[in-house]
Amino acid sequence: MSYIRFEHLYKSFGQNEVLKDINLEIEQGQLVTLLGPSGCGKSTLLRCLAGLEAVTAGKVYLDGADITNVNPKDRDVGMVFQQYSLFPNLNVAQNVAFGLKMKKVPKEETDRRVSEILRVVGLSDKAGQYPSQLSGGQPQRAALARAIVIQPKVLLLDEPLSAIDALLRRSLQIEIRKIQKDLGMTAIFVTHDQDEAMVMSDVIHLMHQGIIEQSANPTEMYTRPATKFAATFIGHYNILSAAEFGTLTGEKLDCQDVAFRPEAVEITLQPSQRENCYHWKGVIDDSLPHGNILRYAVRCGGTQVDVDVLFRTSMMFDHGQEIYMSIKKENCIQL
Ligand code: ADP
Ligand code: MG
Repeated sequence: MSYIRFEHLYKSFGQNEVLKDINLEIEQGQLVTLLGPSGCGKSTLLRCLAGLEAVTAGKVYLDGADITNVNPKDRDVGMVFQQYSLFPNLNVAQNVAFGLKMKKVPKEETDRRVSEILRVVGLSDKAGQYPSQLSGGQPQRAALARAIVIQPKVLLLDEPLSAIDALLRRSLQIEIRKIQKDLGMTAIFVTHDQDEAMVMSDVIHLMHQGIIEQSANPTEMYTRPATKFAATFIGHYNILSAAEFGTLTGEKLDCQDVAFRPEAVEITLQPSQRENCYHWKGVIDDSLPHGNILRYAVRCGGTQVDVDVLFRTSMMFDHGQEIYMSIKKENCIQL
């Protein structure tokens, strides 16, 4: 049986049904993310696991036990929030020791565990500093240490990096992932940022309006979105109605929409001979640099298609230029 299980979980606030029949299984030792737009129910689902919200219906299991009605403090769950709220009047070591003190762990063991965990998060030399003296990612690491020092069965991270600038954020993502793996922790990470979910997760659970839209590993989520919402939220898919797609390619597909990634399309000046492809023509409307790629907006009849090519000066097309486009059939996802 899986380590964490949500079974037919419902949660309403008054008339507002926020979680609708959530069924989710999480394996021990994995880091999974709940990914989705603001308001889709990510925090509420975490809070149901932590016991900070009572569920409306359904069950929550952790490590073989039904914890649906267990007191939050008896659930063995560690949490880190965006507002990591360290105690300002306690230094880093005292902040980290707080949970152990509550559990009445003897002083010697507390000291040993605190200094060990400060080493793990790279804060050994900050033990005596106060939160106001910390900078650049150190408060997050202190909050992380405080949550994991109690050796929780599961670590819950609710958008812990959302308020941090991009560069530092990327290094903390990698650091948290490494610590989680090294310690073999089970963790649930909440984010609305698809790149963050891609970098960190064993499994991504994409949420949308209180349901799990798709569960998949990062590669599968990126290459095989299961629904139109998933294709809209992950990557930058072109989504055409089957009718529009048929007009371009001459292929009548039996589905609602067809999705394909901008980098899956090839642009050439001469008609392409590639096999097992769809082919059509277009006119370059616009181009925008995105780091090391150039994104062309291509007008194809009444439809616009975005195409990404690696930024090489030898592969530049002019605005208004007529070009040929081709895409492998297998890269067109029917939705
Ligand atoms: P997310 O974390 O994905 O942004 P939340 O789980 O915080 O979303 O919220 C989901 C929905 O539940 C929102 O519509 C929010 O307004 C509502 N909600 C969350 N907490 C409460 C609460 N304590 N009382 C009433 N409504 C709430
Ligand atoms: Mg939230």
